[in-house]
Amino acid sequence: MNREKGLLITIDGPAGAGKTTVSRNLAARLGYTYVDTGALYRGVALAAVRSGIEPDDDEGLARLCDGLSIGFSQQGGQSRLLVNGEDVTDLIRTPEISMTASAVSARPVVRTFLLDVQRDLGSRRAAVFEGRDMGSVVFPDADVKFFLAADLKTRALRRYQELGAAASLEQVEKDMARRDENDTNRALAPLAPAPDAVRIDSTEFSAEAVVEKMLEVIRSTTGEN
Ligand code: C5P
Repeated sequence: MNREKGLLITIDGPAGAGKTTVSRNLAARLGYTYVDTGALYRGVALAAVRSGIEPDDDEGLARLCDGLSIGFSQQGGQSRLLVNGEDVTDLIRTPEISMTASAVSARPVVRTFLLDVQRDLGSRRAAVFEGRDMGSVVFPDADVKFFLAADLKTRALRRYQELGAAASLEQVEKDMARRDENDTNRALAPLAPAPDAVRIDSTEFSAEAVVEKMLEVIRSTTGEN
């Protein structure tokens, strides 16, 4: 454990389990950086869509990643996603980009490219990383790992409310089930808890309650109070 530099904490789980709110709040409580790795996959998806590259075109994706600069910049306490210097934060939350991100994330060329980007971001520690394979693949030596789950209906309702009724609840649930299926069944780095992850089910709990529970786990793991 590298306490002097701060802890590396990972939060994995399916879409809509509350990872973003919880990760952001946990990072704020600890004074740590919050890193949303789904945004990186979304950034690659947006770049692919703009270049007319199909999500299963490995050669096209390899070329795309080769020339891609992707990362975050902090502006007014907010984390913005920069792709080749352009702030694309407000363009990556559409249902189309969600589905394309899930498709490109199954391609080894994209995962390998983003593995380096993520490990580089993690080298400074004192961070909460949110994603699907943070504890299992990207940071197997993370100090504390969580897997946040919730039942599908609850997750779909949360995402539906976030989207401001831009799609029907049925459609949101269908898309989410398809993304879960893609993410869980892909050959490389499938969505799965690391063996040493602490599993928390947020179906019945508020984000605040989940953060309190995580802080307890962190305190007991690090022996601090
Ligand atoms: O977390 P978010 O829903 O923004 O992620 C978008 C997509 O990116 C996910 O459906 C998943 O396919 C992919 N992803 C991933 N590994 C991560 C983070 C996201 O495969 N660490």
